[in-house]
Amino acid sequence: MRALAKTAAGPGLSMVDLPVPDVGINDVLITVLRTGICGTDLHIDAWDDWAAQRIKPPLVIGHEFVGEIAAVGSNVNDFQPGDIVSGEGHLVCGRCRNCMAGRRHLCSDTSGLGVDRQGCFAEFVCLPMTNVWRHADGVSLDVAAIFDPFGNAVHCVTQFPVLGEDVLITGAGPIGLMAAAVARHAGARFIVITDVNPHRLEIARRLGVTVALDVRSGTLAEVQRDLGMAEGFDVGLEMSGHPSALPDMVANMAHGGRIALLGIGTQAPEIDWHKVVFNMLTIRGIYGREMYETWYAMTVMLQSGLDVSPVITHRYVVDDFREAFRAAEGGDACKVILDWEA
Ligand code: NAD
Ligand code: ZN
Repeated sequence: MRALAKTAAGPGLSMVDLPVPDVGINDVLITVLRTGICGTDLHIDAWDDWAAQRIKPPLVIGHEFVGEIAAVGSNVNDFQPGDIVSGEGHLVCGRCRNCMAGRRHLCSDTSGLGVDRQGCFAEFVCLPMTNVWRHADGVSLDVAAIFDPFGNAVHCVTQFPVLGEDVLITGAGPIGLMAAAVARHAGARFIVITDVNPHRLEIARRLGVTVALDVRSGTLAEVQRDLGMAEGFDVGLEMSGHPSALPDMVANMAHGGRIALLGIGTQAPEIDWHKVVFNMLTIRGIYGREMYETWYAMTVMLQSGLDVSPVITHRYVVDDFREAFRAAEGGDACKVILDWEA
């Protein structure tokens, strides 16, 4: 099979020819149809410090995908060849305290698809049946391909009630934008999103945010004033990873405000801890998705009218993967899809 891999330490990716993975008795073999390019894939391609420390080539990369089941192991009864599925990219140990209690998103020993083990940027990917999510009828293949980052967004927005609340989202990347759409769907009053990229702020406006603020030319204090907000934002979602975003958010929260922290940057943010204490703020770190409540929530929200497809701006056949990666790095694109069917 063809696969997109990091074959040796250093920048770049290669299209290689590999054997189709063996299917264990508990496994599901999936023909990959479409994949999404994530920031993680860009780090691995560029071979930055994080990638050099974490990745052990040779490695097939990628963790965002949708595919069609090609074969199932002899213990697998609930999936059939032909099912349209995606995969949860965090493989949990199944034995730690949290796994045993059913809190698999809190597993102490996860293994990441396309990071710690062979990923999905290939014609086939093999996963344990416990990591397979069958899509409901009617989910578009493009949206199905990005259930992983869509899940990050839903996992964050569902941490705290947003009905009637004023929500601040820092970072209008694919995840911030999908979070904005989810918060709108879930009944927030004002949704203010920040970024420094005009293309992405424009997508945010199309998704129905109240204000899309370029932080280079305006402040959150001004936005609050314009909206007639008196006491600050009720819910904050940090989705930029930029070191100035969280301090800015903390300064603009209402007393008792609740923050979900998803963004990961190279430089740690420095915040005013006195504000956290005196204003009784909650800051909760968020990782991955909840297995599988987040996946259920994504599915039913799509069925009840949520549309996250505007975050997908570019599509390429996999032969043009270099162009696709350049687009994903550039400022014009948001989510970039690779088509493996062609
Ligand atoms: P992304 O890098 O595409 O989006 C980040 C956005 O932040 C970009 O549009 C960028 O222009 C914007 N930005 C830069 N400076 C800013 C500033 N000062 N204020 C506001 N916005 C600013 O990333 P993404 O794929 O949407 O992911 C969002 C973040 O979440 C990233 O930091 C990523 O590493 C992280 N992430 C975390 C998890 C997790 O499980 N915790 C999973 C996936 C991604
Ligand atoms: Zn575990």
